[in-house]
Amino acid sequence: MFDIIIKNGTVIDGSGNPGVKADLGIKQQKIEAIGDLSDAQGSNIVDATGLVVSPGFIDTHAHSDGVLLTDPQHASGIRQGITTEILGQDGLSYAPLNQKNYLMYRQYLSGLLGMPPPDLDMSNVTAFRNNYHKKCAVNTAYCVAHGAIRIETVGFNDVPLLGKDLENAKTLVRESIEQGAVALATGMSYYPNSWSTTEELIELCSTADKAGGLYVTHLRDVNTERGFEGGGVEEALEIGRKSGVKVHFSHFRTTPEDFGIMSAKEKISLIDKAKTEVDSTLELYPYPVGSSFAIMTLDSISQNGGTEAILDRLQDPVKRKIVAKLIDTYDSRSLDHLVFTNLPKNQDLEGMSVMDICSNTGMTRGQVICDLLLKEDLQVGFRSVPPTSGAIWRHLMKDQMYFLSRPDYMLGSDQISLGGFPHPRAYGAFPRFLGRYLRQLPDIMTLETMINRFTHNAAERFGLTNRGLLKEGYFADVVVFNPDTIIDTATFDDPKQFPIGIPHVIVNGEFAVKDESCTGILAGHAVP
Ligand SMILES: [Zn+2]
Repeated sequence: MFDIIIKNGTVIDGSGNPGVKADLGIKQQKIEAIGDLSDAQGSNIVDATGLVVSPGFIDTHAHSDGVLLTDPQHASGIRQGITTEILGQDGLSYAPLNQKNYLMYRQYLSGLLGMPPPDLDMSNVTAFRNNYHKKCAVNTAYCVAHGAIRIETVGFNDVPLLGKDLENAKTLVRESIEQGAVALATGMSYYPNSWSTTEELIELCSTADKAGGLYVTHLRDVNTERGFEGGGVEEALEIGRKSGVKVHFSHFRTTPEDFGIMSAKEKISLIDKAKTEVDSTLELYPYPVGSSFAIMTLDSISQNGGTEAILDRLQDPVKRKIVAKLIDTYDSRSLDHLVFTNLPKNQDLEGMSVMDICSNTGMTRGQVICDLLLKEDLQVGFRSVPPTSGAIWRHLMKDQMYFLSRPDYMLGSDQISLGGFPHPRAYGAFPRFLGRYLRQLPDIMTLETMINRFTHNAAERFGLTNRGLLKEGYFADVVVFNPDTIIDTATFDDPKQFPIGIPHVIVNGEFAVKDESCTGILAGHAVP
């Protein structure tokens, strides 16, 4: 007797092998049998005729650390077929932080992660994981956040991490990984992470590697003088070489500024050349532009001291003028076109660009950003504007399919589901690849290969035990979808739209989505 039998589907097991017609039997949390189960009894029978049965998707880059604590149902993720999300990305998360530091960093990160409850224990990774275990619809894994490590040792300050502080930081990295973190993650374009040097990261990564963790990195593009060869890929590779750590590159892709297959191959060639020295993997999402939080536009000096110091500067008219002026000196094109995604106290401005608000108010772009950061207590999110040229979209789609076809790639949605106008990747990343991209470009990879990138590839890289494959004895994380109709419907103009063609999603043997509706069951584990 099975709890669930999924009958008559095409089972694509995640290994990359061709799909086979088979039934799948689930008992309690695990996959009990795969094969002909036509005579078997089940409490719950799903007819999957014409549908694909695949391992649940693993999102290797999700910014749902805060959202999952306020909206554990997490429909935007689960409805895409995502059953596991890897948190702590870009080194921006809550553990390990003592109570005072958690409250400070929670507010600093609110434009990216939202505002989870204030009274949670984030003092170590065990406590962090307890906040999610069996309390969310998805499984969660955690990369210990470099930002938290720095705050806990030297505060939110532009100071080097040396001597005793460095030793303390290494202890925190080691303990975090021993307590279940799968990696150390940095976002070298975010504070306080970018105040570190390459040497600091080599030290921390050496500890992470010895403890069995990866190094996950969003590359450096601020404070570049502190990074080996000015940061970027070369810095990450140098960290890999010197520390021996396995490196995982976040959202590595071409952009509207450097698209095209030749450019894609050129861009990744440095990583390819280093393969014999540095064990590397990468991830990406299927959209032309990104999304982030507004506080990152403040200069290094204005960031110093963290949340309270930043709010003091913004509240003082003279100091605010200086902060705004510095923002005004940046490349205007990229800032003017940012669109606000998340303004909880000014929701009528969500979906408007910096430039729109400048022309309505007569303020400069720096003044607009400072004004909103102050009014929102820093909780301001934005995204970039995609190119208007259909040709550029198409080139980028081809580039992204090329990248994902590589065996060293996986998908990281980079989801930020906050606000009224989130980046559509929060609702559509996986079905966009499976529907729109694969149907338009069927010659680049098979459905089986794509599913492998979404499942087994990620589980293996991040050490997620007994997940990522449909295999007897493995956890029953399963997605059932229609390969002919699956598609994303979220767009930049109308982003909060669920995909179609994904009727059922099962997490640890329980329906998280049934007949395209969320069930409210919160069966996700803190893994591995
Ligand atoms: Zn990110």
